[in-house]
Amino acid sequence: MAQCEQGYLCEVCGEEVEDITGSDLYLRYVLGEVDPEKLHIAPERHIRCNPTLAQFITAEGFEAVVIEGFFGKSNLDPEFVAIEEARVTQGYLRLRDVFGIEGLPLTDYPLPGVMDRWSVDNEAASDSDDDARLVDGHRQTHHLDLVAEEPGHDATTSCSDSPGIGSLRL
Ligand SMILES: [Zn+2]
Repeated sequence: MAQCEQGYLCEVCGEEVEDITGSDLYLRYVLGEVDPEKLHIAPERHIRCNPTLAQFITAEGFEAVVIEGFFGKSNLDPEFVAIEEARVTQGYLRLRDVFGIEGLPLTDYPLPGVMDRWSVDNEAASDSDDDARLVDGHRQTHHLDLVAEEPGHDATTSCSDSPGIGSLRL
């Protein structure tokens, strides 16, 4: 974010995602669907630009997203829809809440309980080493591997203004 001095750009529509209450990435983060370690490199998207998830938000003040076809709510199992509506709407309301709390650590954003899955995953990934410092070393390596695999948030394309060319006048 510092590079461009602007918010992240939506990978779907190319417009800026102005704050986290409109961010699909942060919505999925509070729902526990985005690894905290990958949050800073994952591509950003508007909530509305990910309609298969956005359709489950039924909050007041959020204009309902309706999609047709196989993944549309009307074609899904009503029980599944009810569960998803409750879950995703709760996540969206959580986003609004954390947006209003100044200085809240990023790790406190997610809904209660959802961070647990990531700490469990980390323990599973670091073998059964007794030495805590060694375990940390393993985690580091593991995360670096993950970063390398991830296509990531391409900051360069959103900052493609070339400073040299325009100012070259003879
Ligand atoms: Zn968008």
